[in-house]
Amino acid sequence: MKDIENLRIHFYGVQGSGSIYPSLQDRQAYQKVTDCELLNQVFTNLQQQTGPEGRLNATIEELIGGPLNRKTLEAYRAQFDMPTARIYGGWTTCIRIETADGFDIVLDCGSGFRVCAKDIVKKWRYLEGDGQNIANNHRHLYIFGSHSHYDHTEGFDQAAVCFDPCNHIHVYANRQYLQALDQILGIFSHQVDFRLKGVQTPLSYELMPAHFYAYEIRDFQVDPPSPAGDKLVHQYHDLSQHIQIGETTLYPFEVFHPSPCLAYRIERGGKVFIFCTDHELRRGLEPDHPLQIASLEAEERLCQQSVNADVLYRDGQFLRIEYDGDLGIGSPYGISRLDWGHSCIEDVLDMAVRCQVKHTFIGHHDPNRDWLERNWWDETLQRKSEQTGLNFELAQAETVIDL
Ligand SMILES: [Zn+2]
Ligand SMILES: [Zn+2]
Repeated sequence: MKDIENLRIHFYGVQGSGSIYPSLQDRQAYQKVTDCELLNQVFTNLQQQTGPEGRLNATIEELIGGPLNRKTLEAYRAQFDMPTARIYGGWTTCIRIETADGFDIVLDCGSGFRVCAKDIVKKWRYLEGDGQNIANNHRHLYIFGSHSHYDHTEGFDQAAVCFDPCNHIHVYANRQYLQALDQILGIFSHQVDFRLKGVQTPLSYELMPAHFYAYEIRDFQVDPPSPAGDKLVHQYHDLSQHIQIGETTLYPFEVFHPSPCLAYRIERGGKVFIFCTDHELRRGLEPDHPLQIASLEAEERLCQQSVNADVLYRDGQFLRIEYDGDLGIGSPYGISRLDWGHSCIEDVLDMAVRCQVKHTFIGHHDPNRDWLERNWWDETLQRKSEQTGLNFELAQAETVIDL
């Protein structure tokens, strides 16, 4: 793989609300698409070998280049350039950024974090085994949390990075996120309420020997930290100040969601990535409703941060018709999604065009939306890209972006 210029972004989990596994119907639907593509290429190939009276001019062995066995078929199949079916993910939110100066930054620890942590451990071991000059930050991982909901914290307790005493895990987030991790696992405070111990998971800090440090991001103007400190927090960080990880700068800002939620602008070498999961551009019918006003203010902050950004990852869980309750997701029966905390795809597109974001990935997919529908939306987004000269697509796990 080529060297990292500034930031290498890996999507591990882009699924919203809960992990999913592709259903038999989904698998059959995408197999049908790839099978048709393969048959199309095979018959085009056969047509080239067809004589004027419409008959094949060759035997099967001549056509496929040998006897009919697996090896020959594999070689024949390799001639065709097959697209892989787009899989829109199954794990909940987790994105990793590798920086050119050797840092690993993780955004949220949904179930995708387990896969991500395995890759990080593999990389650290490879660097050690390879005898490479290991940087000062080696075995330090920097996690930035958005908010406390389970689909953004659930991957933490089984993640491979937590089980080696040589590892240092620095978690930056709001208080609710830090508390969500600490309440169950006790990784920061080294205590768990006896009524909660072992209830949700068999694990807790005694079985997780890595070193964990909590950095609470809070608005000092509204809520100044107490000079005495507390058991949970290693350090406080003012929301209005940026955070520096090596040569990468992160700007946290608040977005709108039922649980306080942070988004991040991440910059290095003039390249900009915006991570904004779980944000609702609220569409209630009363414009003066305090939640509506708070939502519009958050949307404005997000827009200010996103102007001319290279890449935006943003929650677009619903369509307007679903948000309004006129259509269900995976069912014909609609229910209003007002105050569920997520945005509509149409609003994400408008915002990205207004801010001239070069590449927008729409994520936090609804767990009830099936594959065919996601695929249909992706094709629609392709057409929108052609019309606007900007790039839009549904986020899919295992995507790697180099900035
Ligand atoms: Zn979520
Ligand atoms: Zn949420």
